[in-house]
Amino acid sequence: MTDSRPSVPSAAELLRRYAFHPKKSLGQHFLVDDRILERIVAAADLSGREAVLEIGPGLGALTLRLAQAAWRVLAVEKDRSLQPVLSEVLRDFGNVQVCWGDVLEVDLPRMCEEAFGPRTVRVVANLPYYVTTPVMMKLLEEGPVMDRMVLMVQREVADRLTARPGTKTYGALTVAVQWFAEKVESVARVPASCFWPRPEVDSVVVRLDLRPRPDPEVTRRLSRVVRAGFGQRRKTLLNALSHALAGRDRASIEQALRHARVAPDRRAETLSLEEFTRLAQALADGVYPKSMP
Ligand code: SAM
Repeated sequence: MTDSRPSVPSAAELLRRYAFHPKKSLGQHFLVDDRILERIVAAADLSGREAVLEIGPGLGALTLRLAQAAWRVLAVEKDRSLQPVLSEVLRDFGNVQVCWGDVLEVDLPRMCEEAFGPRTVRVVANLPYYVTTPVMMKLLEEGPVMDRMVLMVQREVADRLTARPGTKTYGALTVAVQWFAEKVESVARVPASCFWPRPEVDSVVVRLDLRPRPDPEVTRRLSRVVRAGFGQRRKTLLNALSHALAGRDRASIEQALRHARVAPDRRAETLSLEEFTRLAQALADGVYPKSMP
């Protein structure tokens, strides 16, 4: 049986040859475990036709496996000093484009349109942990049209993404992500020993299967209510919303809660996504007939 794995220098050899020192400030923990790299690519479920966006290619270990399995790969990397390494590692892959820039600053839909044309995008990344939440929210709220994201995140973030209402880890990020994704699941637990240098935390590969992007105005309303509710998570919803929603009087908030069939003395952490969306809609609808329950 022939080995289809790409033959490339190991991370240790690349780091030595290019005298490259990983930068903690950029979350540079490179994956050095082949099985985990393969699990990530398997979770992305690539058939050779996909347009893949990778955030932070680093030394290119994941990038070249994606290039083997997908139609094209666009990789956004902030650290320009990785350029000679990536040129060597990716030299045999004509279907990879590296864009140098900060993922939080670049125009992702435009970049993807230029690289792929009008294609649905699949995101695959071993994320830099210091920006996990802003990167995820930027992708979900303003990214290209996507169908799936496969992301390496730290374990605590994975716990928050997959949390159920009423648990300690359930919060604003959980509701926001579940709003955009019809399914969120943990695919693999990844010990620190799979990276070089080792991070101080364990990691998890999560897969998010996305819904068609919801109406931005509805998203904006929902996120306002979710932030207001979790902003003071120990307070009842009536108190938390009365405090946070400037311009809304307490009586109209109570009316909206009742209209959404949410008891005013409940706390944000107990509400399901459906209840939050009903509440956001009820608050947007504003005034109700006196006879409403
Ligand atoms: N994909 C490689 C791997 O799995 O071995 C590297 C992953 S490493 C955890 C994160 C990568 O993201 C690094 O290459 C780092 O330089 C890059 N990075 C950090 N901050 C970034 C940002 N704001 N925009 C784009 N890339 C960033």
